[in-house]
Amino acid sequence: MLQPQSNREGKIMLDTPGFVEVTPKADVRTDRHGNRAKCLQRLMRMELPVPQTVAMPFQTVRDIADGRMPDLATMIGLFDGTPLLLSVRSSSETSDWGGPGAVLNIGLNDATHAWFAQTLGQGVADKLYLRFIRSFATEVMRLDEEPFDAATTPAEARAVYEAEMEEAFPQETADQLAAVLRSMARAWEGTSARLLRQAQGAPSDAGLGLVVQKMANGMGPGQSGSGVIQFIDPATGEPVVTGRYLGQAMGRDALRDRDRAIYLTRDVRGPSLEELLPELYRELIEVGHLCRRHLREEMQIEFTVDQGRLAILDAVRCPREARASVAVAAALARDGIISRADALLRVSPAVLGRLLHRQIDPGAKRKVLARGIAASPGAAAGRIVFDSAAAQANLARDEPCILVRRETTPDDVRGMHAADGVLTERGGTTSHAAVIARGLGLPCVAGATGLKVSHRTRCVTLADGTVLKEGDEITIDGSSGEVMAGRVATTEPTLDGAFGDLMAWSDDVRDIGVRANADTVADATLARTFGVDGIGLCRTEHMFFESGRLTVMREMIFAETPADRAAALERLLPMQRDDFTGLFDLMSGLPVCIRLLDPPLHEFLPSETEGMRALAEALNRPLSEVRSRIESMQEYNPMLGMRGVRLGIAVPEIYEMQARAIFEAAVAVRAKGVEVTPEIMIPLVTARREVELVKRRIDAVAAAVQQEHRTDFSYRLGVMVETPRAALRAGEIAETAAFLSFGTNDLTQMTYGLSRDDAGHFMSAYVNEGVYPEDPFTTLDVDGVGELLLLGAARGRAARPGVTLALCGEHGGNPESIAFCRLAGFDYVSCSPFRVPVAKLAAAQATL
Ligand code: PEP
Ligand code: MG
Repeated sequence: MLQPQSNREGKIMLDTPGFVEVTPKADVRTDRHGNRAKCLQRLMRMELPVPQTVAMPFQTVRDIADGRMPDLATMIGLFDGTPLLLSVRSSSETSDWGGPGAVLNIGLNDATHAWFAQTLGQGVADKLYLRFIRSFATEVMRLDEEPFDAATTPAEARAVYEAEMEEAFPQETADQLAAVLRSMARAWEGTSARLLRQAQGAPSDAGLGLVVQKMANGMGPGQSGSGVIQFIDPATGEPVVTGRYLGQAMGRDALRDRDRAIYLTRDVRGPSLEELLPELYRELIEVGHLCRRHLREEMQIEFTVDQGRLAILDAVRCPREARASVAVAAALARDGIISRADALLRVSPAVLGRLLHRQIDPGAKRKVLARGIAASPGAAAGRIVFDSAAAQANLARDEPCILVRRETTPDDVRGMHAADGVLTERGGTTSHAAVIARGLGLPCVAGATGLKVSHRTRCVTLADGTVLKEGDEITIDGSSGEVMAGRVATTEPTLDGAFGDLMAWSDDVRDIGVRANADTVADATLARTFGVDGIGLCRTEHMFFESGRLTVMREMIFAETPADRAAALERLLPMQRDDFTGLFDLMSGLPVCIRLLDPPLHEFLPSETEGMRALAEALNRPLSEVRSRIESMQEYNPMLGMRGVRLGIAVPEIYEMQARAIFEAAVAVRAKGVEVTPEIMIPLVTARREVELVKRRIDAVAAAVQQEHRTDFSYRLGVMVETPRAALRAGEIAETAAFLSFGTNDLTQMTYGLSRDDAGHFMSAYVNEGVYPEDPFTTLDVDGVGELLLLGAARGRAARPGVTLALCGEHGGNPESIAFCRLAGFDYVSCSPFRVPVAKLAAAQATL
């Protein structure tokens, strides 16, 4: 326990020093003194010219925030130099967690000002002192900047300070230092700083260390100045030297004063450091090489030239964008500086995800109109359209468009294919719009708060009353959930060799499979380019959304007699067979798991008069009849109604047609030499008997196809575990199922009793209030839904030891959920094709 005691001036002091001089051998630790302090020690161990430095541990900084100051006189006594000027910088455990900005030139007072005036000249001395008074006043004492704007001399600035503070400008180094330390310690404890670092993954009790360093003077006679150098392009990660240098400058002046600063390498924009001071440039390049090898990272280095002598003040991990993160990790591993495992661990799955989609240009100006749920990543700009026909018309004109709907239905899928992005008023991460958009790799913002979409008047009204009309331009960012005015600049995704390396290394280490949720050949093609292990979920209903098919599907649904239904199914059969042949061909022997039809049939029917009229024409029936048939098919709770296997039992011909299409496709591709063992999955099962009934019919279809084609094949029948009862009864269900694939979208919906299409309305309030730690539709609820998974897996395995276990809900692309599945011994996860690289990396990280 620290025992506070009072010193002579009545200040509370600590009975331990509370700081350590950083030397190559000192006990300096990242988890106690922070990342910067440790890094400076490493630079010293590399014998680089680092000015004398003292590190204060997290505990000391907490004490300072609480009003207990260490013995600063003793600390200052450790430094040599006349006059002595000091800087203080923050040193959090991880540089991403940020920290208050550096304060330089502590120790400047009337006496040192006079000393500098004599040695460096009045101009330089005035400039230094004026700047210090101003930054001390505004950054440390938090005075307004404005009164200092008119102060052009140190005397004037002092006068302003004294008028505002009603006390003299402090002349003692210890007093100045105490104020700086207190201000930085308290800034760290502030609410906004806390929230910012927590958003970067910092724990709530993350500590701040402080580093006090002797200033090297970049404003002396001869060659003096300061600069910043880095050895990669922060956007691409390519090895190029960038940075700036400014003569007669301190700290990061060179970055601030862009007009006067010079570039480091030869450049058309004027003489460079390389040309003006080649010796120094070579020295800096050597420092860069040393840092890369010893610190095993690309560093950004802050340096000062003090009368021709180089001093290295600081080195931080070079800031970089997503593409550069991947490139640097791969290059360090290829150069043998870090292991491949380390390279995999250094890239966060979220960063990799960003790489796969178009992004909002970080430098672009934006005006945010509304915010919703970031439902499918990527940015898109285009004109507002309100229906599929308009989206297709825009596509035909080659004009990008954003489909804006209250919520989407199967009718909108054509429009989603044609649009560049989707924005909905309602819905969450597993709503129809979100799931389809992710599958298509289409940016989507769902459940945008405050938006009112009127399809009738073709207008969107924003929370502030602004009205946007069809044809107005907007930009959506499905990675942040922002909806912006006009066309905001975006950057293209780039998948280079480094990305390929990272994927290959992930494959080498991961011990859980990653399949894709792919419904079309286009999805599957993308999944294959990402090196997927197979298709884990082909949602066959999506195959019926194409315009030609939707009509036949609707005719099938409207059939009044078995003969009419058979005739419609007869027309659907070759279409389905072609779909499956295409998928089997493309996946060339990799497993393909096809789910039988799942959604309520009425979802395929039009909901608006226009669509009903088209259907009435196709069926040659009166509109009123079509309307009343559609109304009679409405259910109070369609997601809990006539869907999934219930449909398979009530209208068995549909599943029979699908099974036949699958088997005939398998026979067709086998004839071409591609060996496939189709996997057929039954959705929404709740009882063993459902599986038995469907199995009997599918076995019969298989036998018939085998006989017709005089061939033999095998297939695997599995069950989608997406109702709580199926998880609980997984033991008896597994007796008739070769695999159990947990559909965690519906399982989450049913376990919580929370509509996946409506949760968006209150989810952010729930998460903000801490009711749920996170949206359970995005990150698997390991406590509740997770327990059902574990229970189902254990019961399934006990009944059938070799049963294949998988997860195919949207959680299949979520890193934490993947780690959970791996620990639970699952064989694979399945996610939308665009999430495959993220899932592979997360699977590898979970294995390492
Ligand atoms: C699920 O419910 O988890 C699932 C994958 O199926 P869908 O999203 O199609 O209902
Ligand atoms: Mg489902």
